[in-house]
Amino acid sequence: MSTAFDAIIIGAGQAGPPLAGRLTAAGQRVAMVERKLFGGTCVNTGCIPTKALIASAHAAYVARRAGDFGVRVGGAVMVDMPAVKARKDAISGKSRTSVEAWLRGMDRCTVYQEQARFLSAHEVQVGSETLTAERIFINVGGRALMPKMPGMEQVACLNNSTMLELETLPRHLIVVGGSYIGLEFAQMYRRFGSEVTVIEKGPRLVSHEDEDVAEAIKGILEAEGIHLRLDAECIEFSRAGEDVAARVNCQSGEPAVVGSHVLLAVGRQPNTGDLGLDRAGVMLDQRGYIVVDDQLRTNVEGIYALGDCNGRGAFTHTSYNDFEIVAGNLLDGESRRVTDRIQAHALYIDPPLGQIGMTEKEVRRSGRPALIGTRAMTRVGRAVEKGETMGFMKILVDAESKKILGAAILGTGGDEAIHCILDTMVANQDYTTLQRAMHIHPTVSELIPTMLGELKPLATA
Ligand SMILES: Cc1cc2nc3c(=O)[nH]c(=O)nc-3n(C[C@H](O)[C@H](O)[C@H](O)COP(=O)(O)OP(=O)(O)OC[C@H]3O[C@@H](n4cnc5c(N)ncnc54)[C@H](O)[C@@H]3O)c2cc1C
Repeated sequence: MSTAFDAIIIGAGQAGPPLAGRLTAAGQRVAMVERKLFGGTCVNTGCIPTKALIASAHAAYVARRAGDFGVRVGGAVMVDMPAVKARKDAISGKSRTSVEAWLRGMDRCTVYQEQARFLSAHEVQVGSETLTAERIFINVGGRALMPKMPGMEQVACLNNSTMLELETLPRHLIVVGGSYIGLEFAQMYRRFGSEVTVIEKGPRLVSHEDEDVAEAIKGILEAEGIHLRLDAECIEFSRAGEDVAARVNCQSGEPAVVGSHVLLAVGRQPNTGDLGLDRAGVMLDQRGYIVVDDQLRTNVEGIYALGDCNGRGAFTHTSYNDFEIVAGNLLDGESRRVTDRIQAHALYIDPPLGQIGMTEKEVRRSGRPALIGTRAMTRVGRAVEKGETMGFMKILVDAESKKILGAAILGTGGDEAIHCILDTMVANQDYTTLQRAMHIHPTVSELIPTMLGELKPLATA
């Protein structure tokens, strides 16, 4: 049996559902195929559940620090892990059911809850049915990379999905991987009350960020009692009674870390291996990502790839922006491109990091004359009043064009405050436009014009 549609969308992640909304509103008949949970990674095993847990961890942290604010809490602060999980599940579940209800109630949209596999460039097998369409949009996302490590078979390694099922507090959580996902879990579980050790094979945390940012993050985590083992080149697991021993073979410190649970947070991989892409002739790169052009078209006419599976972004906002690019180009006569967007991301430890555009390292490498402004959060009134003075902000400006090249705000409200800089960049305005803006007092953002008034030449490497 074969059913014809105008478009087939594979995967109800961050790009698929809004694209279904736009295509059906334009009168097209759309098949939406989702094999598991509506809303994909962000809603079910990524951003939303982790940020809900981080909010609980923050509440515990603030409660423990209540005395700093002149507030007395009666007795020790206890974290009720089943209640924390129930709160997280309720938030994530509400989001999932609303995406599903939206799709199922959408005119001209037929929802299939099945695995999709290409039979040819315009045919997709869904359960016992064959669907056909001129246009096929792939939004299959990715999953945790679980590389083989010596001794892994002896221990039950957790990943970002299985971590979210825990209802008990690990006595000692070993996090392998000192990047975004690993650090968020590390700090959250430390605040819930676990002992936490982060094992990172590189010489520093978050290797994509500037060294001063990574160093400040290290200080923030260590101040909360998180153990960090960097330069761990030879990671190997074994059982130690009921516990797990992770040999790290670092240049200094104990040769093994013994803990109760291990979380592997060493990267992501695309869900492209079981899609039958070879039958459609769609090209993959060496790491399994779908190769797309600047408008998210694959090498096969009519097939597009959006979100994490195309390797052009690894965030909810990049996936959503992919939807906007494709919808704008196909339905609104626009000519939007991936390279038009300014890179932006956050790391949700507390305080958070917001990072946009070029890093200082990238600006130096580019060799262009540049200016830099920095300010410690100890010199931001809002941070002082809130008792959250860790971190700093910095901004980089092209010395000749006066255009902003990039910025990082590691500090309270940094994930929000960075947007005034991002919007100035998107509007292609000189930094002086932002410098002259009157910002509200007392905010973190009010110090951005001040910082721009104190720019200094960036020393070349
Ligand atoms: C722990 C964690 C925290 C994160 N935190 C943040 C954050 O704070 N901010 C942020 O911007 N990003 C964050 N991310 C990243 C973000 O979740 C992803 O970038 C985003 O969800 C990617 O969306 P997507 O649309 O590409 O695909 P996904 O959301 O992954 O959706 C893909 C969908 O396709 C379905 N699918 C796959 N194969 C098939 C098939 N063959 N047939 C049918 N259906 C299929 C899957 O079941 C899934 O539902 C986080 C990720 C993790 C893991």
